[in-house]
Amino acid sequence: MSTEKKSYPGIDCFRILAALLVVAIHTSPLLSFSETGDFILTRIVARTAVPFFFLTSGFFLISRYAYDGARLRRFEKKTGLIYGAAILLYLPVNLYNHYFASEYFLPNFIKDLVFDGTMYHLWYLPASMLGAATAWYLVRRLDYQRALAVTGVLYIVGLFGDSYYGFVEPITFLNKIYASVFQISDYTRNGFFFAPIFFVLGGWIADDRRRIRVGKAVCGFFVSFFLMFGEGMLLHHFGLQRHDSMYFFLVPCMFFLFHVILHFRGRRLQQLRMTALFIYLIHPMVILFVRLAAKVLHRQSLLVDQSLVHYIIVCILSVAFALGMTGIWSRWKLSDSPKRKGTERAWIEMNRDNLEHNVHVLRKAMPIGCELMAVVKTEAYGHGAFAVAIQLDRIGVKAFAVATIAEGIRLRKYGVRGEILILGYTDVSRVKELKKYDLIQTLVDYQYAVSLNRQGISVKAHLKIDTGMHRLGVGYDSVTEVKKIYRMKSLQICGMYTHLSRSDSLEPEDVAFTKKQIDRFYALADQLKADGIAIPKLHIQSSYGLFNYPQLACDYVRCGIALYGVLSTPDSDTVRTLDLRPVLSVKARVIHMQTIPKGESVGYGRAFVTERDSEIAILSVGYGDGIPRNLSGSIGRVMIGMQYAPIVGRICMDQLAVDVTDLTGVAVGDIGTIVADSLDSPLSAPKVAAAAQSISNELLCRLGARLGKVE
Ligand SMILES: *Cc1c(COP(=O)(O)O)cnc(C)c1O
Repeated sequence: MSTEKKSYPGIDCFRILAALLVVAIHTSPLLSFSETGDFILTRIVARTAVPFFFLTSGFFLISRYAYDGARLRRFEKKTGLIYGAAILLYLPVNLYNHYFASEYFLPNFIKDLVFDGTMYHLWYLPASMLGAATAWYLVRRLDYQRALAVTGVLYIVGLFGDSYYGFVEPITFLNKIYASVFQISDYTRNGFFFAPIFFVLGGWIADDRRRIRVGKAVCGFFVSFFLMFGEGMLLHHFGLQRHDSMYFFLVPCMFFLFHVILHFRGRRLQQLRMTALFIYLIHPMVILFVRLAAKVLHRQSLLVDQSLVHYIIVCILSVAFALGMTGIWSRWKLSDSPKRKGTERAWIEMNRDNLEHNVHVLRKAMPIGCELMAVVKTEAYGHGAFAVAIQLDRIGVKAFAVATIAEGIRLRKYGVRGEILILGYTDVSRVKELKKYDLIQTLVDYQYAVSLNRQGISVKAHLKIDTGMHRLGVGYDSVTEVKKIYRMKSLQICGMYTHLSRSDSLEPEDVAFTKKQIDRFYALADQLKADGIAIPKLHIQSSYGLFNYPQLACDYVRCGIALYGVLSTPDSDTVRTLDLRPVLSVKARVIHMQTIPKGESVGYGRAFVTERDSEIAILSVGYGDGIPRNLSGSIGRVMIGMQYAPIVGRICMDQLAVDVTDLTGVAVGDIGTIVADSLDSPLSAPKVAAAAQSISNELLCRLGARLGKVE
């Protein structure tokens, strides 16, 4: 993921260029020389500026994956605050222009507030707010293709109220429709018709991480730019434009331009963002100021009438002001979000490259036609369901399994697309949610199938067969019941599966039992087939099933623990060994150091008494974070630097104590590793779990509650 951490200085630099293009729109630099030249610069070239800002906002804001709506709310709040400040800033100008004394002040004010801006340039801010919300909603609801279709239609409707208005004007009924649109918003280049498509495009480019090669992007840009140029000139020539912000070819032009800009990678130039914003906000004020100064100094012929000089002066003053404000702003450290990175007391460190690696390895180990069903129950075995599930969705995993309906719904809310199978029990009264979120319910036994069917709402289900595990499922020999289930009207049985109870063992006795389970399952399937029932997708194996019975050709393998790169126990013998890599490590900070004299006790129950003068380090992590309390009393160890130290005394809910007397140079602020992300380490998840008399699965899934996650 290291490439992701690099930033996009191209975007930052282009912000300044775009801001200066906006200034050009409002000053017409070439007007003294050529009217056509001015049209080309301000009505065609400079029309890329605002869509660029929308695309950029969309790129950083819009995603089909979202933990919740907090990002959108933050964007709306921030833009709203800037808008409010800008309205106040221009209040004197509004007063001077008798803005508040106009006849229909209130309706006009509301209209300006929502669409047109209270000053001519301010329309961009409400358009950002409306455009962002519209794009967010559409992408989350419809995904990109359909969101692009909807915003594309909006854009086309907008076009005919803008550059293409000449085609609409003669048609009476369309004319009337547009007339009523213009009652509400002076132009169609607003947050409803114009902005959303660029926000959606920005999000799409961000989510779809494939990049167009630079040569192609440059070509695409030039071709679409010249098409837009021709389009603009023609519309201008025939006098069809009511306004001149929207062109057909502006959309592909911006798409390619943005891809070109993304090719510049490196350090972020964050300050430029503020500078561009200040240029944009202040330049109309600077224009007024220059005009006033020119009048007072009797230099109008040079400073105002000479359009290029006028433009350059406005730019210089605006940039100077903006740089000054940026300086003040950064000195005050009015940074937009509180710094959290690197402040965690204890955390899970995620290696997402390893997760991706494991997916490739597991897929390769499966027979052709068999799909990986990623088991992401219990916060993806403690790794965090959001981060894990969206990465798997991104790289094309199409089937997921969870334990509960709540977990399934959450995956949908995060933006996960594929099939989601609930492995456990769901109260049948929640059938509507199963349908609404397109979840697949496991039929845990015959009675359950009957009552789910009785709800009368058609839902997808997988039938679970008990072949000897005796946990859930309809008995493998209950053929009559199974057949009845297949005939139930409201149940769409799209899968049938069983679970192996001893697939981790290679003992002949256990292998024989497992084979019996497998045979029972297939015998049932064969019998159903013979009786004319269409056999749905079949699956049997979980992680160990894949390791030890790789020859089974099922439709899915339900991979849990293997996906996270570890085995359940440290010395599992398996038929097949795969190159899996652990996805997480658990770390905590040393928050307190103390020298404890010989004979003193440390912690609850006075369970540990020092046998010598001891250096004791307190780490800010405990069983409340999922560290097994069974590791108390020197059973567990912690790695600090490259050295190991025993956990002493009883592990508390929020802290644990480590004896670092034999270590050198341990200090407050040092980082201790409790679970390492290497299988060779004595602190690998299987070894730590074994020390606590458990298995990796339990150790990992208990980590999900409180620990922060870093990458
Ligand atoms: C949890 C679970 C799995 C995943 O098991 P792993 O051993 O972690 O791969 C598979 N199937 C069912 C029914 C489960 O409950």
